[in-house]
Amino acid sequence: MSLQDKKALVTGGSRGIGAAIAKRLAADGAAVAITYAGNKAAADATVAAIESAGGTAFAFQANAGDPSSQRGGIEQAAAALGGIDILVHNAGVAEFSPVADDTDETYDRQFAVNVKGLHVGTRAALPHLRDGGRIILIGSISGEMAFPATTVYSATKAAVAALARGWAKDLAARNILVNTVQPGPIDTDMNPADSEFAGQVLGAIPLGRYGKVEEIAGAVAFLAGPDASYITGTTLNIDGGATA
Ligand code: NDP
Repeated sequence: MSLQDKKALVTGGSRGIGAAIAKRLAADGAAVAITYAGNKAAADATVAAIESAGGTAFAFQANAGDPSSQRGGIEQAAAALGGIDILVHNAGVAEFSPVADDTDETYDRQFAVNVKGLHVGTRAALPHLRDGGRIILIGSISGEMAFPATTVYSATKAAVAALARGWAKDLAARNILVNTVQPGPIDTDMNPADSEFAGQVLGAIPLGRYGKVEEIAGAVAFLAGPDASYITGTTLNIDGGATA
């Protein structure tokens, strides 16, 4: 119970990696609030799973790509939790196309959720975030290596790592530690392990398999916990060796 008495907010906690992070932080003792875009049933299922295991959880609808909605969700979560110790920016979207097929709309949507949503959300959370707190951003190995037809998404994730490096310096005086977890291919609705795309990328993963959501959640729990007290401004790749 390394996170006993801590209060954690996980954006996009209704499904996939975010749901696994919310469950893991709760299992480690934190009270958890999640936000979600529109899938209330999945959000309720995450909350129910945490509560049935004896934990405390809340869910709020908040579109990370809409600044006022994102601010509203953060405020509601901070009020329900009674402050924030751990902020995990996990909500993200991917719209893959080669550059000739990219559009202004696909560019704007991905940057709105994956980058501006984090900037808006962190500014909204800061008045509620305790000194000594943690901010963990979910980037991607796409932020530092290229895959075909994913350039805009990759650019958003490169920006995510840059946000963490800058915030680590801005917030060091308050001992708020800021790091980026960069997953490789993880089996979720966004990137199913049985897809044609998966067949193309498996060969580039030395461990020869997709990752599991729990393998990302474990790394987030480490960065949120007491053993990570001297780690800030870094990126942690969890990718079966893909970037080795
Ligand atoms: P999923 O598509 O499986 O789940 C996305 C989650 O984010 C859902 O809870 C969804 O809510 C929420 N969400 C999506 N858009 C918004 C929004 N505008 N506002 C608020 N919440 C939103 O994705 P993954 O779990 O696979 O991905 C999670 C993160 O990990 C993302 O940042 C992604 O880029 C990153 N990542 C994923 C990898 C992978 O291979 N899966 C690899 C590298 C990085 P709802 O249920 O309501 O739709």
